[in-house]
Amino acid sequence: MRPFPESLCHRCGAPPRYVRTSSSVYIWCPLFENHYPRQPVLACPLFRARGVDPDPPAP
Ligand code: SF4
Repeated sequence: MRPFPESLCHRCGAPPRYVRTSSSVYIWCPLFENHYPRQPVLACPLFRARGVDPDPPAP
């Protein structure tokens, strides 16, 4: 299960990475200044559409 399913990051070609701890999953962004944008990201000037989602959320 992805954190913040509505986040724009899941469809971004930055590409983000998912950092898992024992209790949470964080979205790490290579472009964002502190690398951990406040979630959910609903708008982002750095967003770049990814062509194919390799891990689409379950319906
Ligand atoms: S560039 Fe913006 S939308 Fe893309 S992963 Fe980083 S924070 Fe999310």
